[in-house]
Formats: sequence, structure tokens, C-alpha cells
Amino acid sequence: MSSFLDTPIEFLKGIGPQRGDVLKKELQIFTYYDLIVWYPFRYVDRSQFCLIKDIHIDLPYVQLKGKIIKTETQGAAHNKRFIAYLKDDTGIVELIWFRGVKWLEGKFNSNTEYVVLGKPTEYRNKYNFVHPDIEPANNESIRQQSGLEPVYPSTEKLKSKGLDTKGLLKLQQALLLQITGQIEETLPLYILNQYRLMDREQAYRHIHFPENMEELRQAEFRLKFEELFYIQLKLLKNKHIRRESTQSFVFETLSPYFNTFFKEHLPFELTHAQKRVIREIRSDVRSGKQMNRLLQGDVGSGKTIVSLMCMLMALDNGFQACIMAPTEILAQQHFETISRLVAPLHISCSLLTGSIKGKERKSILQNIANNTTQLVVGTHALLEETVQFKNLGFVVIDEQHRFGVAQRAALHKKNSKPPHVLVMSATPIPRTLAMTLYGDLDTSVIDELPPNRKAIQTLHYTDSKRLRLFGFMKEQIALGRQVYVVYPLIEESEKLDLKNLMEGYDALSQEFPLPKYQISIVHGKMKSEDKDTEMQRFVNCKTQIMIATTVIEVGVNVPNASVMVIESAERFGLSQLHQLRGRVGRGAEQSYCILMTSYKLSQDARTRMETMCRTNDGFEVAEVDLQLRGPGDIEGTQQSGALNLRISNLAKDQQILQTARQAAGMVLEKDPNLSNEEHKILVAQLLRENKNNTNWGRVA
Ligand code: ADP
Ligand code: MG
Repeated sequence: MSSFLDTPIEFLKGIGPQRGDVLKKELQIFTYYDLIVWYPFRYVDRSQFCLIKDIHIDLPYVQLKGKIIKTETQGAAHNKRFIAYLKDDTGIVELIWFRGVKWLEGKFNSNTEYVVLGKPTEYRNKYNFVHPDIEPANNESIRQQSGLEPVYPSTEKLKSKGLDTKGLLKLQQALLLQITGQIEETLPLYILNQYRLMDREQAYRHIHFPENMEELRQAEFRLKFEELFYIQLKLLKNKHIRRESTQSFVFETLSPYFNTFFKEHLPFELTHAQKRVIREIRSDVRSGKQMNRLLQGDVGSGKTIVSLMCMLMALDNGFQACIMAPTEILAQQHFETISRLVAPLHISCSLLTGSIKGKERKSILQNIANNTTQLVVGTHALLEETVQFKNLGFVVIDEQHRFGVAQRAALHKKNSKPPHVLVMSATPIPRTLAMTLYGDLDTSVIDELPPNRKAIQTLHYTDSKRLRLFGFMKEQIALGRQVYVVYPLIEESEKLDLKNLMEGYDALSQEFPLPKYQISIVHGKMKSEDKDTEMQRFVNCKTQIMIATTVIEVGVNVPNASVMVIESAERFGLSQLHQLRGRVGRGAEQSYCILMTSYKLSQDARTRMETMCRTNDGFEVAEVDLQLRGPGDIEGTQQSGALNLRISNLAKDQQILQTARQAAGMVLEKDPNLSNEEHKILVAQLLRENKNNTNWGRVA
């Protein structure tokens, strides 16, 4: 299907080979289509003027009207700048240019009124505008724009070829002049009607040049709907195909292991939520179809035991099972927990990580291959081709956000039919993200914490309260508890972070001297044996304080630790803070999380601290995190093609996403294979998108 929108970009009037090149290189705009979906990132309402007294640094683009009362050129020959002073009835601001000074000198007339468009910046306690757009107020080109004017993202390279936001605007105008009757609809008529969607051609016109807010809103809705609809259609179609055609193993019987464990060896009563999830999984694994399920649950909600019991179902039916964790420490801890729990069942368990080598590794691999080992705990080392299972039936992937889709796929190949897969997230994932990243998986949620957990108390301290903090730590240690002190570790400033950590260690060593106090320290630059030794000392209560970087973030379980101190807490993201906080509150004692920050905080950081102090609910924290950071920055999601969204924003467009998913579900229910005439356009569009985005999620 070759169409108008596939026309190479250099055919457009105003684009020669040179501009064509830079558009391709800088913005990956190769065709008319690529250009038309280069949407404005904001609009300026040309009918509104901001008063100079109302200028504020947080304002985006603002439009001013006034007279130039004075101009001057400052600086030496090669470093000149041109300053124009714009005055309205309420004040004066500086307009500054660092380029084109010669040309600007003498351009302005003191009797003329000018319209200025730009983003305010602050310099020496004064607002100014650097390289603003400026035109005489009576200029026609300003007045002809009756509605909202688009502002396009551009780059320095593009600007040097005349393609600043104005230049891009001209290209869009040239393109839109030609589109009448050329834009094929991508959604069936009945969908357009049912959801009151603008047609595609109109939507393109209005997204670039809306006459008013209402037109803009409708165009946005249509384009966002389309974008999210196709993602959901693809996900749901894959899910459907898999459900129909991917056979997997049937786990019918629940003995000897599952039932015995449940009746005789459970160390505690399962929560209702845990039981419900086990039932959900149980019904999947006896259906004959391959299970692909996401298990969400807050930190400490008890996902491990659930996954273990599901693995027992596999073992009961003669299959092997494995659980894969993102770090060695965590794999080891899982291994210990699980070995201990299943010891009375006489199940053979192995641990396989990257650091297990030589003879030992060979023998483990042999046992996995000949079914001597029933249950394997490991890291991504499990994915290697040398790991051959005799008969793998159930796979658990813990803390999924560290693994990619490709790794999920690699596990599928470990048996003649793909094994059942249970993916567990470390912290809750916001609904919209889950729907987009894991929309092809079924979902289970543990929405209940084990009983007798005391809510963790979270406090935000600035440095001035450090002495109080030390006093508090001493009190807790005197009560027999243990304390974590965590420092940030961010790759770019690893050296600095290590320095902070070591200084912190020195300070704490003085405050908490030997022999009364023992301190462990763990950081990324240590050998893994040393890390393990230190970790073990803390686990075994030989030390009272564990100083660490975020290596302890995920999964580690020391129920006696009751205080989590997070240094430079402002440098952590919300989900990471929540994950760290989840390291305490695991025993019966009241636990505390203390967020240490400097006094001066950005608005964003303040919101993070307030959110942490306000709630312990990981689902709520995750939603705020998404609102603050946007989906692109949330850990582990960057690689996902699902988030190359052109116009939708998963933080803001929950409602549209919901509607689009519902619409996609309705379409597939009506016509699972999309073979109806009216759905031909859907198939064509899916194919087209697949071509553009081949790596997206068919594997899961
Ligand atoms: P997560 O969901 O964060 O992986 P874990 O599986 O590590 O949580 O469980 C956290 C702690 O809660 C563990 O010490 C575990 O033994 C305990 N636990 C799990 N389920 C229950 C329950 N139903 N009753 C009491 N304690 C439980
Ligand atoms: Mg866990």
C-alpha cells in the first residue's frame, strides 16, 4: 500500500536535498508521514498577551506587546550581544541576542509597537528573553493566525538550515495544503462513530493549526486514541493467538508436594489475596494453554511463597521449575529461603549464578539436564544456552523490570513447548504502564499485606537533624534492631558517590565506635565474595549497621532491620525510595524510614518526599512517580517499543487508554482474525507498523 504519505520528504516544496538530509539525520523524517506526525509540543495563543509585570520563570512561551525604548550593543568584537529594552504599561524587560548583532542594529523603531514571543529566562534577578521572535504588531503574518500557533521541537542543526520552529511550521503548512482527499482513514467507520472521533485528515489539520482549544482537543483525542488503539489491538491479538494456539503442559495433580506443603509445612497462614492468586494460576496451568501472567504486589506482600507453591505444582506433575532473579545476592537469598521451605519435602534444589564456575557449574548443569535437579534458582545465567533442562514446565521471573522482553523469550525456548511463565514486578506498576508494557499478559494482584505488619513510619529530615538521627539509631540498636544507611549510586558520578559513601562510613564509625557497634559496608566496587561476606554478617546479626549503595535495593530480607536511613534521598526516584523502604517493616516491630536531604529542594523532590511520608501504598507511589517523571524515565521501560509514543502520555491519558483498549477488545471479540471487510484497514495498519517497529513484543 503505497500512498501519498509515503512520498519522500524531498518532494515537498521548500525542501531541497540539503534540508532533506538534515531532516532525515536529525529527526528521522523521511516521508510526508514522518513530517505530518511531527506534532507541535505546545501552542501559543496569539490572541493573549502577557503583561511584563506578570512574567514568571515557570511560564512556557509567552507573548508580549510593547515598544522598544532603547537598544545597545555590548561586549568585544567576537563576543557581542545586542540588547533591546521592551516596555509596556507595566514594566521593562531585556531582549537579548548573541547572533546577528549587525543585522539587528538599527532594525527597531521607537514609535512602533512590537509583538515578542519567547520563553522567559532569569539572569541576575531579572527576567529576559534570549533570541525571541519579534515582529511589528501590525505585521500581517501575525494577524493572519487567528487561532493557536504551533511550536515545534527543533535542534541547533535544523535551525542552522532555517528549520527552527517557524521553518517547520512553514513546511507543515505546505504539506497540509496538499492533503485534501489524500489521507486514508485508519479506523473503521463504526469506531469513528461510536467514539465520536474526528476523521484522520481533519485531525492532522487541526493538530497543527487548531482554530481553538476545542478543535485541538478533538484532534488530540482522535490521534491519541488511534495510537493507543493500535498498541492495544496488537497486544490483545497476540494474547488471543497465544491463548488459542500455544499449547503448554497440563498440571493436573497436586501431590505429593503442593498438598503436603500446604497442609503441613506452610510457616504461616496465607492471606486471602495470596490464596486467590494461587487459584488463578492453578486454573491457568491445568487449562492446556500456556500461562503468561504478571503478578503485581507491593513490597513485602509475599510474592515469593506464591511463586514457590506454583513451582511445586510443576514438580508434582514431573516437570522442573526455575526462578530467575536480577542479582546474585537476591538469587542466593531466594535459594536459601526456598531450600529451607522445601527441605521437608526432599526436593532437589540448585543455585546457578554467573559466579559459580568450573567443576561445580558443570555438575549443576548436568543435574539440570538429567532431571536430578527439580527446582533451580538463578540469575540471568539461566538464560545461557548451556543451561539445558530435561523438562522445564514453569518459569518465575522475579523483579521483572530488570529483564527485557527478549529474555522472557529466551526462556520460552527451554522446552519443546513453552513453559508457563509467571512474571513478578518488584514494586507495583501504574495501571496505564502495565496495560501498555504487559498488556498481553494476564494479571494477578496481591492487594493485601500479611497480618500484623505495622505501617512503616516515614520521616523527612534535613541535615540539621543529623544528631537527632544518630540518637534515634542508637535507641533502636539498643533495642536489638538493625539499621540500613543507603547512599545513592549514579553512574555518571560514581567516584563522587563512593567518596560520599566512604565519608559517611568514617562519620558513622566515629559516632558508632567499635567494639560496641559493628558496621557492614557493601558497594558496587567490591568483589562479590566480599559483598556476600558483609551481607551475611548483617543477615546473621553480627553487625548492627549496614552501609550500602543501592545494591541492597531489591528483595533482600532481614526482618530484624527496623530502620532505613536514605542519604541524599532527593537523588532517588520514587519507586526506588519505596523499594528501599520495603527493606524494613518485615518483622513484627515498628519500623522507620528516614529520608535525609539537603534543605534546598526542587519542587519535584519535595513532592517525592511528601509522597513517601504520606503513604505506604506502592500503587499510589507508582502513580505519583508516573505523573512526575513520565513513562520514558521509569526504570526498565526505556527499551520498550511500546513507549515510543508520538502523542499520547501514559501519565495523563489513562482515560483514553482505557477507552482504546476497550475498543480493541470489542473489535477482536467481533472478529478475532480481523478477516471482515471493514477490518482490512486494521490489518494493513498493523502490518505497516510492524514494518516500522519490528522489535515490538511479539515474543512474550
Ligand atoms: P515480596 O512480595 O516483596 O517479594 P516476600 O515474598 O519477600 O515479599 O515476603 C516478605 C516477608 O513476608 C517474608 O519474610 C515472608 O516470609 C513473609 N510472608 C509472606 N506471606 C506471609 C503471610 N501470609 N503471613 C505472614 N508472613 C508472610
Ligand atoms: Mg520479592
